[in-house]
Amino acid sequence: MKILFATSEAHPLIKTGGLADVSGALPRALHDAGHDVRLLLPAYAPLLRKAGAVIARSELMLDGARVRVLETRLPGSALVVWLIDHPLFSEREGNPYMSPSGHPWHDNPERFTLFCRAAARIATDQAMLGWRPDIVHANDWQTGLIPPLLSLEHNPPPSLFTLHNMAYQGVFDRSTFERLRLPWALWHDRGVEFWNNLSFLKGGIAYSRFITTVSPSYAREIQTPAFGYGLDGLLRERQADVVGILNGIDEQEWNPATDPYLPTGYTPESLDTKPRLKALLQAEMGLPVDEAPLLVGLIGRMVEQKGIDLVLEALNHILYLPIQVVALGSGERRFEDAFRALALAYPDRIAVRIGYDEGLAHRIEAGADTFLMPSRFEPCGLNQMYSLRYGTPPIVHRVGGLADTVIHASDENLAKGTANGIVIDNADTLAVGWAIGEALHLYRDRPDHWRAMQRAGMQQPFSWAESAGRYVALYKRMLG
Ligand code: ADP
Repeated sequence: MKILFATSEAHPLIKTGGLADVSGALPRALHDAGHDVRLLLPAYAPLLRKAGAVIARSELMLDGARVRVLETRLPGSALVVWLIDHPLFSEREGNPYMSPSGHPWHDNPERFTLFCRAAARIATDQAMLGWRPDIVHANDWQTGLIPPLLSLEHNPPPSLFTLHNMAYQGVFDRSTFERLRLPWALWHDRGVEFWNNLSFLKGGIAYSRFITTVSPSYAREIQTPAFGYGLDGLLRERQADVVGILNGIDEQEWNPATDPYLPTGYTPESLDTKPRLKALLQAEMGLPVDEAPLLVGLIGRMVEQKGIDLVLEALNHILYLPIQVVALGSGERRFEDAFRALALAYPDRIAVRIGYDEGLAHRIEAGADTFLMPSRFEPCGLNQMYSLRYGTPPIVHRVGGLADTVIHASDENLAKGTANGIVIDNADTLAVGWAIGEALHLYRDRPDHWRAMQRAGMQQPFSWAESAGRYVALYKRMLG
């Protein structure tokens, strides 16, 4: 099958979050399964610096804008990557979506409309590339206009749209729609119009044959008002076409046995190595090197979604317990500042690194005793899967992909040997505090159970090949 996979970020070329992990891994898994995949991305300036050899493949005129299509390969793979090259992407540094002040780039609608227009041309073989996909796979709001634009073409390939996070929707006012000179045929309540605004995300949902999301639980949750951001009604109508497919993880990159970011590897059989990695992590983060306290790891965007505020408040109440915390992430200033302040107040208990650090992320997954991720909502979540694989039982809220991957350490599950973490039913301060206490209790007082939980997580299958197979099954139905 020929698959055009359009996305706004893909690891290792450009990454702000889980979307990049999926967009780096899924197309590669499809490619490895013998499919003819083209990964389509904007040619951001930082991306161009990371890419290897790049050649120009063609040139397009899109609503007055001259755009080049560049070609490169995904680093470390034979997968072909096409890049949409325009100054809106190639002459802008930093984050793909946000200015350094943390606000969305003012011209994001222009930038991603341009990307979608280019994608629609390529998908209908109007880009002089000599290649026409059977399937278009679009991802998140930045690609949401591709299915609607394709719907206006003669005999277009069918689209599948994956929701990685409904919280980001690409909603702009009506005058933006007019300024973008998008076709009026799309402006109606079954189209891109959303309460007299333009919604990229709604366009992707409304015009795609299938809508997938990155875990079965999240697929159900987004059909309810609490998680649907006003699109739950539309999603309920399309119920039969909404499918949850759990993400895999890159099992090469996240393999505790061979991880190049670790001084020594380990397996379920050699978990005795882990305390050494804990000591190295404590030293790296400037914490007292001591095996006794429970070392709690936390990695991710410091935003409300991830329950960072709950963690901060809970820590204030439970620091009488023998625990240490290492946190890595960046996000909202108020949370970054609060974490910094807490680390300053308790320098031998709490260490924080604000920023992005791939290597440290690996060392936290390996060196921490438990991984804390009490997200309020979580489409899939990758870090809890990494921590499971690294024998670092996670503490999570029973929601989305967290609910689908973590099995609570109840007496019953511990007896059965299925428990692999701690699951709380409420995203609140009390529950977070309780869960950390519970982890400490299991770690310290029931080491056999803790070891069994570590092993259960490490042996869980998270391969992309299986998830890719589920996407292929949907692609086949789209063609059938
Ligand atoms: P989301 O996509 O909502 O941000 P996920 O858990 O799905 O959350 O994926 C986050 C990805 O980004 C993971 O690969 C995680 O390791 C990585 N990540 C997030 N913040 C950082 C950071 N500060 N340093 C290193 N890696 C990070």
